[in-house]
Amino acid sequence: MIVMKFGGTSTQDAPAIANVVEIVKNHLHQKPIVVVSAIAQATNMLEKIGKSSAEKNDREAREVLTQLFSRHYTIIDQLIRHITRNRNLRSILDTAREEIETIIKGITILHELTPRTLDTLYSYGEILSSRIVSVALLDHGIQSEWVDTKDFMITDENFGRAMPMIEVVEEKLRAHVLPLVEKGVVPVTQGFIGITNSGRRTTMGRESSDYSAAIIGAGLDVDDIQIWTDVDGLLTADPAIVDDAKKVKMLSFQEAYELSYFGAKVLHPNTMLPAIEKSIPIHIFNSRRPHSPGTLVTASFESHAAVVKSIAYKRNIALINILPRRRVGQYILWEHIHNVLTKHGIITLMSVTAEYGFTFALEEKQITPAFFQDLNEVGILSSNEKMGIISILGSNILQTPGTIDRIFKALSDFSINMISFGASRSSINIALDDGDIVEAVRQVHTEFFDSVFTDDVFEVLDKSNKK
Ligand code: ADP
Ligand code: ASP
Ligand code: MG
Repeated sequence: MIVMKFGGTSTQDAPAIANVVEIVKNHLHQKPIVVVSAIAQATNMLEKIGKSSAEKNDREAREVLTQLFSRHYTIIDQLIRHITRNRNLRSILDTAREEIETIIKGITILHELTPRTLDTLYSYGEILSSRIVSVALLDHGIQSEWVDTKDFMITDENFGRAMPMIEVVEEKLRAHVLPLVEKGVVPVTQGFIGITNSGRRTTMGRESSDYSAAIIGAGLDVDDIQIWTDVDGLLTADPAIVDDAKKVKMLSFQEAYELSYFGAKVLHPNTMLPAIEKSIPIHIFNSRRPHSPGTLVTASFESHAAVVKSIAYKRNIALINILPRRRVGQYILWEHIHNVLTKHGIITLMSVTAEYGFTFALEEKQITPAFFQDLNEVGILSSNEKMGIISILGSNILQTPGTIDRIFKALSDFSINMISFGASRSSINIALDDGDIVEAVRQVHTEFFDSVFTDDVFEVLDKSNKK
């Protein structure tokens, strides 16, 4: 049994979905469970609909809604030949549209978009794409059944970043999904979304469909978790900014976790957690080049000699510094700061402590007035926004003499605002001005990967095949 997760760019239009059908067909012997994200940009469009409604911009909300649905109707008309199936899907879409219109009215009247309502809105993206993929499989003669995540993905009530209740989820997967696979049916379900015990839709954080796939894979002890996307695997840098990024053939769970945590968007960082627990390999494959061998992320992997494997980056970061108002013990200052971070659910990306102060990095979008107000009570607060972080990762890189020198040589034209180094043996994180990040990634990439040729760690990609 395997899980195959297809991201938004793999389901963006009718030809892309026809391609997904072909890929699934070629894996039928491995008994796939298919997990899909919303079609490309659908989640952003649903968010726009919610926000415009909250701002009472009804016209904009309706315009985006019309665009979103016309993309779905076009897909159905181009893809689903069978008249009854086509008609049934249209009526599912019509109903969804009416439901969204009712939600829009509610948001407009209340003048407010709560995380709970936003999750309900978001859920339509994955529900519709999975409905379409399931019918497309049927239309091509593959036995398939649509499974609503409400039958198994039970989460807590933390809307916007819900956590699954793993034991319940596993039990429900065995009750609702496993029997289908055993009958030779391909279940098609949604990534990203879950449901509370009281029946409210939740989401597990943006881009978390990869995580959903891993939860399902671990829950059913599959042989392989496959993430099908629009690039050849995990590369030495984001191909959107580095033209000659190479493919990394194999990584450890730890390396993949750190890379995704520090911005390699191709995998959601949580994806590795269920996989590590059950030692299930993760493959990243390109749905546009289905025969390319992809990247393998695995536990049973002999770490290569120390080598820099990839460079990740994050933008829109703030650095926050706190100094005590009066002389207090360092441990008391720490305790107070950590209490505030916990209270507001803040994830820090880097932190450094000096004898007299504390600085940490977080995503700007996490900052709220209430968070700043609480921090202000702890000490003297200063914040530096419009920062970015570049992370250089690999196996045991910090033990290799010269690695750090090479990194700083490549960054010599930029001003460095903060460094975190030593917490993990395999990475170094450096905060720079946001405007310098793209060029900094390119410089460090040139330093480490310009002379890399295909070997047992890296593969040089044929440019004509790239995104
Ligand atoms: P999906 O819709 O399939 O989930 P995503 O957009 O979430 O796809 O992830 C794929 C994208 O991740 C790629 O198009 C690429 O621009 C970006 N990316 C960032 N860093 C890396 C990296 N190190 N390797 C590969 N892709 C990366
Ligand atoms: N569709 C969701 C998002 O855009 C989940 C995902 O793509 O993984 O965030
Ligand atoms: Mg993704």
